[in-house]
Amino acid sequence: MKLVRIVAPPLAANCYLLIDEKTALIDVGGDFEFISNALKKYIDLKELDYVILTHSHYDHAAAAGFFKNLAKIAMHKDEYSLLKAQKFASLFFGVSFKQFEPDILLSGGESIEIGEAKLEVIHTPGHSPGSICLYEPEKKWLFSGDTVFAYGSFGRVDFPGGDARALINSIEKLSKLEVENLYPGHEDVIEGNAKEHILKSLKIAKMFL
Ligand SMILES: [Zn+2]
Repeated sequence: MKLVRIVAPPLAANCYLLIDEKTALIDVGGDFEFISNALKKYIDLKELDYVILTHSHYDHAAAAGFFKNLAKIAMHKDEYSLLKAQKFASLFFGVSFKQFEPDILLSGGESIEIGEAKLEVIHTPGHSPGSICLYEPEKKWLFSGDTVFAYGSFGRVDFPGGDARALINSIEKLSKLEVENLYPGHEDVIEGNAKEHILKSLKIAKMFL
């Protein structure tokens, strides 16, 4: 399997392209022209099977509507409810984004087969109500969206639907996984012993939230 990180505007969200028997893109950023040009270096857009959104914030998901009919769009059901309730407007960015209906509504516990790799869906509310993380159990990879970042950092809880208690519980859930590599929604990727970073995030979140 091949993994490619694409850092996408507007706020340097990490998007991850997984190429195996199937092809999946985890998060898309907010600029379809940018992300589609980046993808074309590795795949024909028609080869994309899944777009999986870790959550619905503008910087991760605003270009998703443009992938409708190109790939199956998957996101957590609570996140889709939030998007609909906000009429696809981002209160924080003061902009609206192209409306879409997901092809797959997740609730956590599903497994998305990419080929050799499979992605287990873990519901991790806190940063937003329908945030998810994706865990590859063989490789011990965790795609953590904005729930947890490297070096003991974690997602903000002051956006609509944010919940500090829920975030701590979610990080606690993640801290029980064996995680070798951490692929967060922003900034540095950690390759090797990433569980340490999650345990640090849990400790700091418990102190400050
Ligand atoms: Zn976010």
